[in-house]
Amino acid sequence: MFDKVLIANRGEIALRIHRACREMGIHTVAVHSTADENAMHVRLADESVCIGPAPSAQSYLNIPNIVSAAIITGAEAIHPGYGFLSENADFAEIVEAHGLAFIGPSPQHIQTMGDKVAAKQTMIEAGVPVVPGSDGAVGDLDEAQQNAGKIGYPVLIKASGGGGGKGMKVAETPDMLAEQINLARREAKANFGDDSIYLEKYLANPRHIELQIIADEQGHVVHLGERDCSLQRKHQKVLEEAPSPALNAGERERLGDIGCNAIRRLGYRNAGTLEFLYENGEFYFIEMNTRLQVEHPVSEAISGIDIVREQIRIAAGAPLSFNQEDIDFHGHAIECRINAEDPETFAPWPGRIVEYHPPGGLGVRVDSGLYAGYSVPPHYDSMIAKLIVHGATRNECLMRLRRALEEFVITGVRTTIPLHQRLTSQSDFINGRYDIRWLEDYVAEQAAG
Ligand code: ADP
Repeated sequence: MFDKVLIANRGEIALRIHRACREMGIHTVAVHSTADENAMHVRLADESVCIGPAPSAQSYLNIPNIVSAAIITGAEAIHPGYGFLSENADFAEIVEAHGLAFIGPSPQHIQTMGDKVAAKQTMIEAGVPVVPGSDGAVGDLDEAQQNAGKIGYPVLIKASGGGGGKGMKVAETPDMLAEQINLARREAKANFGDDSIYLEKYLANPRHIELQIIADEQGHVVHLGERDCSLQRKHQKVLEEAPSPALNAGERERLGDIGCNAIRRLGYRNAGTLEFLYENGEFYFIEMNTRLQVEHPVSEAISGIDIVREQIRIAAGAPLSFNQEDIDFHGHAIECRINAEDPETFAPWPGRIVEYHPPGGLGVRVDSGLYAGYSVPPHYDSMIAKLIVHGATRNECLMRLRRALEEFVITGVRTTIPLHQRLTSQSDFINGRYDIRWLEDYVAEQAAG
């Protein structure tokens, strides 16, 4: 096992990884920008290295500085967390070229799955159902029109290099196609430096259901169940739950089989997530995330597996210590992403935390780097805490979640706690009846008064 791991991230996920390392007797190295000198992940780590100024391009995305920090401190492995360099194949390759272990999949798998067109093609070959769409990237408008005609309107234009909902545009009718393609290409070019796009059937009211998988180098593949991440705003997840209230036992088993078979065929190692849209009893693959995800704790809650610990063990060459039959799913879990934002306008709200009192009690987990007196910097993502609640049943989980939200005190900045309180008292949510459009509609209705 490793003696020392460098954590190439910040905020709650850096803390989360530090905790797993600590429990395994592994020393930790935190890296930070000048804006994060007083961050909790820096305070708790055994060592820390400043890797650059506040803008992430010069710090958390600075490959030479991060690799140098690992070498100088004698770390043997790097955990990238999520976001930043976690899905950067070049980074994984450079880490390995320096004789360090990358806690994640191989650079080749990151590369293939990072290109959405290649990922989709790979999944088709692995027997996974996908959203009907163009055969790979589309070239000129003629080709796009032909493809869209075959797929049927409305069509969704997606960027091959896409992520975070960027470069995605809908063409409702044929006369909108040219303009929407131009918009998508421009956004894709600006965000990913690649303007290639492809087309997909635009599903009207799907749910977003994803499967957590974990695989070792010896070829064992296990899934940790599905997560329902349909509550989204601007294609960003707001609240996630496991299991999905929409699936029955047969569908759940089918999803697990589809996912594990595909991962086995790919020869993939470490943790990963297969994302699907689910409509009228059918699953359609949309993308694979080759990293730890923000919402991983809901799967940990229902499976009892520490995903980060397994990631580290796998990267050190150890086989999985359990097989599918050993996983005993129990109860229900919900995660609320709490952002430093106005709960109505969603305007970011960085600033100094005055009071901080997280909820506690049975089945309540808070992953956060906050403390009273800490200043939330304006340079990064606005998520400041995750509240994860587990209960024996969905109803118990929901009652506990409402209680925990009520207890949560964060003052000095605005947060989305009030939004979660409103959401979790809506009858559609209580009844599990929501799709990927539900939250946008709800927010629009609230805004209209
Ligand atoms: P990104 O990588 O940018 O997050 P995804 O492919 O994961 O893009 O899609 C993000 C979200 O966009 C999905 O969770 C879903 O809400 C919506 N979406 C994606 N593909 C489709 C589709 N074919 N039809 C309808 N909605 C879609």
